[in-house]
Amino acid sequence: MSKKDIRSLSLDQIKNFFLENSFNEYRGDQVYSWLWEKSAINFQQMTNLPKSIRSILEDSFVINHIKLHTIQKSKDGTIKNGIKLFDDLIVESVLIPTKKRITACISSQVGCSLNCKFCATSKLKRIRNLNVDEIFDQVKIIGDQSKIVCNRPLSNIVFMGMGEPLMNYNNVIKAIEIITSKSGLGMSPKRITLSTVGIPKIIKKMADEKVKFKLAISLHSAIQSIRESIMPFSNKFNLIELEESLLYWFNLIKKKITIEYIVWNGINDKESDILALIEFCNKIPSKVNLIEYNPIGDSSFKKANRKVIDEYQLKLRNANIVSTIRRSRGIDIDAACGQLANKS
Ligand code: SF4
Repeated sequence: MSKKDIRSLSLDQIKNFFLENSFNEYRGDQVYSWLWEKSAINFQQMTNLPKSIRSILEDSFVINHIKLHTIQKSKDGTIKNGIKLFDDLIVESVLIPTKKRITACISSQVGCSLNCKFCATSKLKRIRNLNVDEIFDQVKIIGDQSKIVCNRPLSNIVFMGMGEPLMNYNNVIKAIEIITSKSGLGMSPKRITLSTVGIPKIIKKMADEKVKFKLAISLHSAIQSIRESIMPFSNKFNLIELEESLLYWFNLIKKKITIEYIVWNGINDKESDILALIEFCNKIPSKVNLIEYNPIGDSSFKKANRKVIDEYQLKLRNANIVSTIRRSRGIDIDAACGQLANKS
């Protein structure tokens, strides 16, 4: 029988393991600290444990670790990492350096079951959800990379890589808990943004749980029929339900929601599209991130003319809605938003 990954156990479960084996439960605290705070990759590193305990752990468990498989560097400094998981599957995570911050873009699933037409990841079928430790390790690897390559610590995390984080809700939330806890990486939740296509029921659940990270919604159209044509799953979660869940979130969490919005030629570049977005934002306390489209080799999606994006920004400003234009990073290595597809 294959051994269990010890990092799939909670602190209480590890303590119980020690109690059941007639050891003091504080051994559980020591092991937990080695696993998450010190990122031990084998039991022999746990030098404050007697050799006999290390051997019992070795006989009972494994520590699965992700491995850096490929590294691609963009001319703008962005680094795309191909990450090999314990079962040889590959996901991608990206380090994005700017003057002000260093951001890790993290994956939550191998492939994706949602079929957003403009996204390269949608071409890979969903194989499985990432485990808590696989999400955590991506942050750890990029944090180390940031110190070595950029001489600065990692400052922000976005769940915007491969997969829909809310379709792997429990593991993503547990990973964020460890990333932000003192016995993990101790990062501030204010520096973490979870980006989702918007699953109303789970948005409300997160609000009820009073999560402390930020929320971004990949909206891309505030007109139901257009949104459905580019994000087909949205026929199950319509814009009215989405709006309602975002208001619920805001009322409990009191943080503005970021609306992610790509403008495409001939799809959402009309006056009616801008007005629909303004109407949406007037109902939800939010700010808009207008994103440059990154080609994925599908000719039905073409980047909108810059004039149209400027027009969006002007009209949003006139309606007192804050917006920014996000320039793409790492396009030359297919590391930009929506381009992750294990092509390296
Ligand atoms: S945009 Fe996100 S949810 Fe949609 S297919 Fe791509 S990875 Fe999945």
